[in-house]
Amino acid sequence: MSDEHQPTTPPEKHGPARNLDAHRARYAQRTAGMTASEVRALFAVANRPEVVSLAGGMPNLAALPLDSLAGEVASLIAQDGQGALQYGSAHGVPELREQICDVMAMEGISAHPDDVMVTVGSQMALDMVTRIFCDPGDVVLAEGPSYVGALGSFSAYQAEVVHVAMDDDGLQPEALREAIGNVTARGGRIKFLYTIPNFHNPGGVTMALNRRAEVLEICAQHGILVVEDNPYGLLGFDGQVYPPLRSLDADNVVYLGSFSKTFASGLRVGWVLAPHAVREKLVLAAESATLCPPTLNQMIVSRYLTTHDWKGQIKAFREQYRERRDAMLSALEQHMPEGCTWNTPDGGFFVWVTVPEGIDTKAMLPRAVTQRVAYASGTGFYTDGFGSRQMRLSFCYPTPERIREGVRRLANTLTEEREL
Ligand code: PMP
Repeated sequence: MSDEHQPTTPPEKHGPARNLDAHRARYAQRTAGMTASEVRALFAVANRPEVVSLAGGMPNLAALPLDSLAGEVASLIAQDGQGALQYGSAHGVPELREQICDVMAMEGISAHPDDVMVTVGSQMALDMVTRIFCDPGDVVLAEGPSYVGALGSFSAYQAEVVHVAMDDDGLQPEALREAIGNVTARGGRIKFLYTIPNFHNPGGVTMALNRRAEVLEICAQHGILVVEDNPYGLLGFDGQVYPPLRSLDADNVVYLGSFSKTFASGLRVGWVLAPHAVREKLVLAAESATLCPPTLNQMIVSRYLTTHDWKGQIKAFREQYRERRDAMLSALEQHMPEGCTWNTPDGGFFVWVTVPEGIDTKAMLPRAVTQRVAYASGTGFYTDGFGSRQMRLSFCYPTPERIREGVRRLANTLTEEREL
């Protein structure tokens, strides 16, 4: 399980039973890479109301028009219940695939609905893409740090992740060239570059526009596919929309989108847009995984896009998140001890913080939780042990007031930790 979201399931109560697992000799080798989240054991405590959690990446759905949505869902079932509750195709509901093309058009992507496959969140798309491309030992290039759920998919298929450094302008083209050179020199097979160009999770940064063409060019030169994950692309705080890599290169980019951050994460509706032949393989893979994504949920999204001002709703989300980002940045400025640095995200959910040398964010976490604040420690976002001086703070879910209080508690914990 990733530490991305705050799960409602409590951690296992019977810890020692794992060692007594009568099935342990049977598991496939790939399960060795399926490890529990670093903070899982702390979840029960971190989820207590007195703890301010800056750890999870849960969207704040308070702004959704629940009453009118309830009416739409009821009328959907009354009018077309047999269709909505029936199996569908693994490819996804055709009308929704057309609407997804309209959503992507807002970012300058021109696509055909045939090349879109609906998925159970973009998490499933990550799994499907890795499933069709990666054999054990294949290399996936990914920014360092990278999305913990993607790293989980890569490791489930026994792919090796090689991180590529970022700076305030996102992925560094020079570091990409170097990583490709190093992996090729040792005979490694690179299958794709996984990148989150906009409002990175967890890095908070956005890839500079001039780097986008360069990254695409480097990958094309070396025959490396680009997998672009863009769940936050429409959540730029000033309404700015950066051109996705897919809008610059339709042939060598597989694009992942999601309604989780722009509508409702619990419906689990996302999509993948891929060159035609790749999309065909993805549909075959998806059939064996789920038969089809939930028809009802797809139809709810489709109905919502038809009947609601979804662009206005995204604007409302953006404004809400901007207010929270501002609360977090001003609290960091006010409270954090000397030597801490962080970035200023202009969209998305996350601030990436570096703490002074000598402090290990993973080791400090239990103490932070006793001080009633939780965060995601940096090491979970790397596969190579890096990140012990980093942490990800999410500003998406708590209110501005709680964010300020959480940062104050975190700053106290850091100050005490330094004095230990
Ligand atoms: N990619 C990134 C970068 C994410 O941050 C998330 C959610 N935290 C996902 C993919 C998965 O999103 P979902 O499956 O809800 O669409």
